Order: sequence, then structure tokens, then C-alpha cells
Amino acid sequence: MSTLIRDGTVVTGDGSGVITSGAVVIRDGRIVEVAERWSPETDFEGETIDASGCLVMPGLINCHTHGVTPGALFPSAAAALPEEKWMGNLDRHLLAGTTTVLNLCGFASMEDVRVADRRHAVHVRGATTHLPECLVAASMADGGGLTPQVRGLTVERMLEDGAIAIGELGGGQTLGGGGQDLVYIPAAIEKLTGVRISISQSRRIKEAVLGRFIDVEAFDQAELTAAAQDAGLSGRITIEALKTLVAECVLPSFVPAINGIREGVIESARFGVPAIVHSASATSKVLRELMTETHGNGMQVIAAHANHPSHTPSEARELAALGRDYGWAAEASVFDLLHRKHTVTTREHWDLLLSSPNLVSVLGTDYGRDGEHDELISAVQDVMSRGHRTLAGAIAMATSAVAALIPGIAPNSGTLEAGRMGDVVVTNSEDFRDVRFVFVDGVCVVRDGHLTSEAHR
Ligand SMILES: [Zn+2]
Repeated sequence: MSTLIRDGTVVTGDGSGVITSGAVVIRDGRIVEVAERWSPETDFEGETIDASGCLVMPGLINCHTHGVTPGALFPSAAAALPEEKWMGNLDRHLLAGTTTVLNLCGFASMEDVRVADRRHAVHVRGATTHLPECLVAASMADGGGLTPQVRGLTVERMLEDGAIAIGELGGGQTLGGGGQDLVYIPAAIEKLTGVRISISQSRRIKEAVLGRFIDVEAFDQAELTAAAQDAGLSGRITIEALKTLVAECVLPSFVPAINGIREGVIESARFGVPAIVHSASATSKVLRELMTETHGNGMQVIAAHANHPSHTPSEARELAALGRDYGWAAEASVFDLLHRKHTVTTREHWDLLLSSPNLVSVLGTDYGRDGEHDELISAVQDVMSRGHRTLAGAIAMATSAVAALIPGIAPNSGTLEAGRMGDVVVTNSEDFRDVRFVFVDGVCVVRDGHLTSEAHR
């Protein structure tokens, strides 16, 4: 099976290559030619796609996803998603030009990852957090997806079985962050009072009890009273009971989750695989400690969502700059800050980090509310159109830079060149979210913006 994609602007993914009116030929699953132009007289045996007005780029590689396998969900090992949901999440990635994802729900098994990888055209890769303290933190925060089989797994077994990274170490659910604000605190309050509060009301209540850095010393009675009133809880629950409820939601998993970050980073050096750590105000202390303690041991640590909104913008930049000085890499997550704006309503952190030279090396999505994150490809467009990177540089942050940072995620993808896997995206050059065609291993899985029958297996 052969495909010629011609007359589009070919962005090779290496960070500099751009060919106006170029051509890409895919045959038998591989890219066999990337040409400066395709002469109209040249015969081609196979399908020809006219990509004029479009960009042609490597399939995107998303190193920060959740909910893309039938395994335990999030660092809190919550109950697995139903099949239509995790398959639907993969559909959304694929329709937006992502052809490889790294599942950062570190309690999924490699069997879970292989099931997803087999069933869906997207290449699904696995990471692990099967470590004692991480397991305690997950059990305390949720643990609804922990089966006896998962409890018996180890990082060593997972890596032997094909996992490529240790992560996500820590998370909003186990560290009193967004996952608590969004899910666990509102659920506990609703159970006790019958009142459903919003994510911002939940965050305000939590910060009145524990501050931004999760510290019992930060308790502010007057602010909690005001926050409770604002959330419609006056008369439904006493301030003392509300304080206890928040502390009981957040604190049990907090210390083990911090310890889990520590043990994961140390293990990553032992096994020579990258560690991916949850960067947020709650973890900034332990991350700073680890930067100095483990400096020079040769491991690659990646700070996930270095632009996390629990940091102030300047805290985020300072932590990322310190990390850079210690050889850590930073990933910026788009969350839903560009379009949907359910969970992140500011782009201040995003712009500040991305406009600082060499602070962020790769882009990801994270999960957003119920999986409704903005598309990785729109993050790429935003980074370019805001002038943070060139077109070629922005695309590299979701292709070759990811492949280079995490060996094993996409060993033979991430650039358009002869011999590489046939993972190729054709998208509208004005609006990158308008993805027209996607090829995975040379097979057309998105055609005219719709999934083909080859997308599911
Ligand atoms: Zn995270």
C-alpha cells in the first residue's frame, strides 16, 4: 500500500526542516521519501492526497496522558474507565493528530497497556509507579482500581515487561491538588450535606484549611467561614466539621505521596529510565530537595506540567529554571487553558514559561475535566502563533523532542524522513485542530476529519 502526500507544507519535526510544497511518500508502513517537490509528470502508483493549504507533520507524541487504557486510573489508582470511555479518549487524541501516547496512570499493568495498544490505532506506551509508598498514597486517596494483580507488580517487573518510564509520581488526587478539588472534596461534602460545590469553591475551602502548600499551620478560620458561606454550606455543616472533612480527604495520602516521589526518582536512576514527577505547589519543596540530592547521578527527571496553576507564575518559572540548572526537563501541559477552560482559566503560567528561553522542552495535555483537555495540536499552534517558537520549533516540542527525551516512547517516529514509521498528519495550516488525515504505520486512520474503520482493531 502506497500513499503520496503532495503540495503541502512539510514540517519534518526535527526543529528546523520546513519544505513549502513538498511531498511525502509512505509505503508498506514506512516513510520512503521526503521530497522538495513532486513533479506533476511523475507517475505514482497508489493513493495521492492533495495537501495544498495544509501542513504535513509527523504524528504527534503526547508524553502526558491519562485514561487511555483499561487499567487503574491516575496516581490514585481509581477504578478503571469503561471501555467506551478510554477508547473514546484515544479517539480524541487520534482525531487531533496524536499517534503515540504515554499513559501516566502508573498503576495500569503492561497487559492493560497492550490491550489498548492492540485495540486502537494510537500507539499506547506504559509507565509505572508500582512502588510501596506510591501504593500507600493511592490506597489512601482512592485505590478503587487496585486489584491483587496490580498490588503484586513492581517497577522492575513493569520495566522488564515494556514500561518505558516511572511516573506520574504524585498527582492532584494524592497531593491535595486539582484531583481533590474536582472529585474527592466535593463528593465528601455532598455526602454529608447534600450540597454539590464547584471546583473553585472546593479549592477555596481546601486552601482555607491547608493553604496552597498543604500545611495544617495555614488554617484560616475567617476565610473558611467565608468560603463555606460562598459555597452555600452555612447551616449545613459546622466550620470545625468542614475543617476535619478537608483534612481527612487530603492529608492521609499526602506524606506517602511525597515519599513516593522520592522513591520513584531514586529508582529511575537505578534502572536508567526517565522519572516523570508531578510539579505543583505541593511538591515544589520535595522537587527542590531532589534536584540537589540526586544531582550528577545521571538520571533524567521530567517535571510534568511545570506550568501548573497551583504555582504562582513566578514560582513556576523559578522552579523550572532551577530544574534546568540541575539538568531536569520540563513539560508544559495545555490542560484546557486554550479553549475549554473548565479547570485552568489562566494562560499566564503557560506564556511566562514558554516565552523564557529553553525552559520547556516538550508539550503534553494532561487530562482536564473528565478527559476534556484541549488538543495537543492546538497547543502546538498556540506556541507558534504567540511567537514562543517557530513553526518547526513548536512542532518539534510534540514530536522529535519527546522522542529524544523519553527513549522508548517512539523510537522510530517523531520526524519525517525515509525509513521512519509512517506516522503522518495532514492538517489545515490556518487551524491546526482541523486535522484532515492521519496515518499510523502507513495506514489511513483519519480521513477527511473522520476515523476510518482501521482506527479500531
Ligand atoms: Zn500531574
